[in-house]
Amino acid sequence: MSLTRSSAIELNRLFVSGEVSAREIVQTYLERAEQWDRRVGAFLELYRDEALARADELQRKRDSGAELGALAGVPISVKDVLCHRGHVTSCASKMLQRFESPYTATAIERLLADDAILIGRTNMDEFAMGGSTENSALGTTRNPWDLDRVPGGSSGGAAASVSADFCPIAIGSDTGGSIRQPAAYCGVSGLKPTYGRVSRYGLVAFASSLDQVGPLARSVGDLAVALRSLAGYDGRDSTSAPREVPDYAASLEEAMAGVRIGLLEEQLSQLHPAIRDAVTGAAETLASLGAVVEPVALPHAEYGVATYYLIAPSEASSNLARYDGVRYGLRVEAADHAEGGLVGMYGATRSRGFGPEVKRRIMLGTYALSAGYYDAYYLKALKARRLIQDDYRRAFERVDLLLGPTTPSPAFRLGELTDDPLELYLQDLFTVTANLAGVPALSVPAGLTEEGLPVGIQLQARPFDEARLLQVAGRYQAATDWHTRRPRIA
Ligand code: GLN
Repeated sequence: MSLTRSSAIELNRLFVSGEVSAREIVQTYLERAEQWDRRVGAFLELYRDEALARADELQRKRDSGAELGALAGVPISVKDVLCHRGHVTSCASKMLQRFESPYTATAIERLLADDAILIGRTNMDEFAMGGSTENSALGTTRNPWDLDRVPGGSSGGAAASVSADFCPIAIGSDTGGSIRQPAAYCGVSGLKPTYGRVSRYGLVAFASSLDQVGPLARSVGDLAVALRSLAGYDGRDSTSAPREVPDYAASLEEAMAGVRIGLLEEQLSQLHPAIRDAVTGAAETLASLGAVVEPVALPHAEYGVATYYLIAPSEASSNLARYDGVRYGLRVEAADHAEGGLVGMYGATRSRGFGPEVKRRIMLGTYALSAGYYDAYYLKALKARRLIQDDYRRAFERVDLLLGPTTPSPAFRLGELTDDPLELYLQDLFTVTANLAGVPALSVPAGLTEEGLPVGIQLQARPFDEARLLQVAGRYQAATDWHTRRPRIA
């Protein structure tokens, strides 16, 4: 039996029913990753021995008749931004290259409590800053659909690991699009939950008011199972929401009649033609399934990129102040620096430990927060954020969901945008607003370009309405086959 190309739900069923052992599953995926990841570069580390040992442990649990979690036997990759006790958490930075976590993120604890098998940690843009994974200080990740192209970012390794079928589910993080954009570039599905839905405890902070943990998978059904495991209140994250976690998989079965979908028509004007066709095609498909589709606008969304690129770097400049050579990771002595003593050590550590994009963000953020500029930049960005939030609130008085593109264009070539940070920032046009407003958003594959590259569409919903988001995306996948297309490598 060929185990690859299976969904997480299917692998779990095979394991629980006894048709396949957990070791067989893990071995199959590990071997696949070992064979192909030299070309793709999705992983920074594979947990071979640990994953096999855990498979055997779960097998004993199953054979003893004990009750198993919903992810029992499912191999999952984790973006290298979540702390995991006894494991390196590098954030793809030289600063943390050898940093071993003393504790475990709630998101990881919850996956393990549901009997998932973590098979490795995936590459990313350094500290999740970027949209191509080219800002990783620790390696290159390639798009499985075209090895000369980027996988997107910052969860590029996560998206590539699912796209190349090294695992059915990957865990990523999304501050301004980092789950949805690489999902779109790599032809997989990705969900950024509502701010507060998944605990950020143990997620290395980039921009604390925007960061969320979420899953990537091929099918929406797998996203539903993964979100159910990840989500829930956590007393260790004061921004996590004390709300029930619905049975997302059950809502996938609900019919779609009467769901109101707002088409973000303004977002269709400056798009790659294949992406425009994917969005309009999806609108037709959803209408044929019973949804009511009408045009809707988010009038301030055009300020999203400017707003995000003030707020995110401002928060980052504060969050990254902790990497000073004293408490975490790298320490470079002052001898290497113009200034001596403690200040020299700080300078030497931070100039050596951070890459150019991280330094750029720290400088932008420090500038935007500094006396004399605070009102003109940071405060103004907070006001624009409020206007964007109000746009969403108004739109969701009329419709249940918003439909539009995930990205303006498909995956670009490696190196194509490395000299032009602004052009790279502009790729985040359609994704950052969901983070600024805190709403849940999901990208699903919805077409291919003439060159055969995957493109994604984005659905957004009211806060905490992930069930609706997954239901409609699930119906869409049941009616189309874009999510079943595979890159040639796989
Ligand atoms: N591309 C965006 C940035 O560079 C988003 C990153 C993210 O979501 N982590 O900040």
